Amino acid sequence: MDSQIDLELLITDNNLDPQLRVIAQKVQAGERISFDEGVALYEKGELAFVGLLANYIREKRHGDITYFNRNFHVEPTNLCVYDCKFCSYSRLIKQKSEGWELSMEDMMDIVKKYDDQPVTEIHFTGGVLPQYDMPFYIELFKRIKQHRPGLHIKGLTPVEYHYIFKKAKVDYATGMKLMKDAGLDSMPGGGAEIFDPEVRNQISKDKCTAEQWLQIHEEWHKLGQRSNATMLYGHLEEFRHRVDHMEQLRQLQDRTGGFQTFIPLKFRNKENQMSHIPEVSVIEDLRNYAIARIYLDNFDHIKAYWAMISRSTAQLALNFGVDDIDGTLDDTTKIYSMAGAEEQNPAMSTRELVELIKQVGRHPIERDTLYNVITDYKDYQFEEEPAARFYKLPVVNN
Ligand code: SF4
Repeated sequence: MDSQIDLELLITDNNLDPQLRVIAQKVQAGERISFDEGVALYEKGELAFVGLLANYIREKRHGDITYFNRNFHVEPTNLCVYDCKFCSYSRLIKQKSEGWELSMEDMMDIVKKYDDQPVTEIHFTGGVLPQYDMPFYIELFKRIKQHRPGLHIKGLTPVEYHYIFKKAKVDYATGMKLMKDAGLDSMPGGGAEIFDPEVRNQISKDKCTAEQWLQIHEEWHKLGQRSNATMLYGHLEEFRHRVDHMEQLRQLQDRTGGFQTFIPLKFRNKENQMSHIPEVSVIEDLRNYAIARIYLDNFDHIKAYWAMISRSTAQLALNFGVDDIDGTLDDTTKIYSMAGAEEQNPAMSTRELVELIKQVGRHPIERDTLYNVITDYKDYQFEEEPAARFYKLPVVNN
């Protein structure tokens, strides 16, 4: 493996900073790096250095394999009772004319639209409103499972769960069990933002705390279920806050083993209350992916949302620790585009995704949500595919 030779050469470089050399030796030996070493990587690790280490780990774990899935989003509403300062998505009640609220029938219609499509996952995400309560989601998930039992429901985050369980007066363990029984298959990683209480308080003070976010994931893992984790970076946080965030995830993962994938989310500054904060560079994005790959030694996968960071940066990220670039999406999400992402109509056909991965010499694998292999595209020959379809979300009061 070239990355092994590169790492050996790096370690024997006389000009290498001694602390970085120790980190590189630990990576070579498969040992865990410490909190202080994580901070040192952010402070001193140039892109080429962290990239080499991250790619070594990525290729040791996955070789050239790069995962994607066929999924679609359902976003019940972009109105929200919370007021996160970084949020470009939520339209508070005063901006309701720019908002939407889908009924249960609207959401079932979206599901039915995919009846003849080989999608494997439905991803629920969106704002928090009182009418989307626990009975609502229980009925919705049951109806989806009745309609299409094989469709994996990945839905909601501890932000929603904390809110709906409190309203229903059930504890986290009971609530998660009820959601599982209704058909919830896994939990996405959203709502984590940044765990440090001071920074969290400045950017999203009303919603669930870091402890609550972690507790809900822990209860879900105790049921034998899987989830993902995110980190919002590039705003008010310092490097030590990013490492603290990953440290807390690493500790929970040591206890439960329930996380599958870590997904760094870049702060975007379009149309939110933190628009005065400049966005970090693509170089910092890549460094952040790489350091996450190095630090989170007990996470199997690092994912880059191509719809958030653009197709070309997603391709680059595959050399910086990333082994998953999410799914086809089919233009069903507004979360990225409303935050100012490069992709304003995020949809890619399977063929496009496969070609994107192959263009940078990686090996595309379509997976299901739990990383079971659906199709190996290494030597796959495509027949003509229909063009990606577009679906417009209804708009309230429009
Ligand atoms: S980030 Fe989520 S919880 Fe916060 S305001 Fe936006 S939609 Fe609501």
